[in-house]
Amino acid sequence: MAEQMKAVRAMSAGGPEVLEYGTADAPAAGPGELLVDVRAAGVNFIDTYRRSGVYPMDYPHIVGVEGAGVVAEVGAGVTDFSPGDRVAWHDAPGSYATRVAVAADMVMRVPEGVDFEAAAALPLQGLTAQYLATGSHRVEAGQTALVHAAAGGVGLLLTQIVKHLGGRVIGTVSTEEKAELARAAGADEVFLYGDGVDVAQTVLDLTGGRGVDVAYDGVGRDTFDASLKATAVRGSLVLFGGASGQVPPFDIQRLNSGGGLFLSRPSLQWFVRTPEELRERSSMLFDGLETGWLDFRVGQTFPLADAAEAHRALEGRRTTGKVVLVP
Ligand code: NDP
Repeated sequence: MAEQMKAVRAMSAGGPEVLEYGTADAPAAGPGELLVDVRAAGVNFIDTYRRSGVYPMDYPHIVGVEGAGVVAEVGAGVTDFSPGDRVAWHDAPGSYATRVAVAADMVMRVPEGVDFEAAAALPLQGLTAQYLATGSHRVEAGQTALVHAAAGGVGLLLTQIVKHLGGRVIGTVSTEEKAELARAAGADEVFLYGDGVDVAQTVLDLTGGRGVDVAYDGVGRDTFDASLKATAVRGSLVLFGGASGQVPPFDIQRLNSGGGLFLSRPSLQWFVRTPEELRERSSMLFDGLETGWLDFRVGQTFPLADAAEAHRALEGRRTTGKVVLVP
């Protein structure tokens, strides 16, 4: 009989209530894999898309893709890791568990001084913010970026990276408390994009009528139109998520009438295709942490057993920065 572990499964497609905490068979370390004792799992919007059925999945499945922990066993062919090593990862399905198997060539080593909650907070949202600012659109000094949900997990990191690259950030948030956090992360202007606010016009006013060089939109359905209107001639609109819902199909001619815009819909997997690319992107993040230009915030920590509550908080806009689960 397989060794047992604790895990959170999505039993069917649905709301947070489909998440069940219980006992499951522990995975084994396959060839090229590490079996890791999970010390902290990162909560990301993609977990909610996979739970709800927005992204097609088999059910039941153990939720989660990100985390940090200690290597328990190494699989065949793994030579550069040993039991006891501290690691973090961004793409290991089944991470809301006490054990998970992770591809050895896609993990990051966690320095001794960094605790596991912090280590679980950075990989997915950090790498995302990094590729958005350097890959999807290469931010240059003097450019202006619109960052929606600027106090969220990706938002706070993206704001800091754009500032580090010499850009100006206009952030949107839903509350004054979140506005303070976005400003503390370096956002130059922050405004509340609640009911009755003309988001596009506000951004145009803040840019002398020109619009932004790049609009980073992870909110999706509720903000996409405004993002289109707020992007400057020949600017980039990077749609990278749908926290408010997915954007419905739209008339591509609007990119023409909007000023010859570049629209992309990227995903992290296309920007960390190889271990070398992962190392290159993560080295910018670690450099930021070590030299102090990058700071990040674990906003909320929940026990693993309360994963459903963590999802309710994330989807209910009650979180800031990173949400982490601890077994
Ligand atoms: P966040 O911490 O940013 O949480 C989402 C935020 O979106 C909320 O806090 C809220 O901020 C804002 N929001 C606006 N409208 C809604 C709504 N109707 N329901 C819920 N939230 C809303 O989450 P993440 O940092 O984990 O992810 C942000 C986005 O980035 C998501 O869309 C996610 O899918 C995407 N993503 C994309 C990746 C990619 O490679 N393409 C990788 C990682 C994340 P406020 O209260 O201020 O409005």
